[in-house]
Amino acid sequence: MKSFACGDVVPGCDAQFMSTTDDEILADVRTHAATAHGLNELSADVEQAVRSSITVR
Ligand SMILES: [Zn+2]
Repeated sequence: MKSFACGDVVPGCDAQFMSTTDDEILADVRTHAATAHGLNELSADVEQAVRSSITVR
């Protein structure tokens, strides 16, 4: 299982995401970023930061 903590990219956010693939986490993060952070699009930099912060457990 892969997991991502939004707080690793957006300090102070306590949202956590878990999925089997990076792409599914990215999809959930896009929705979360739009609703919680007002980011309607993830820039390439942010997407890269998310991918590099995904951990496998
Ligand atoms: Zn967040």
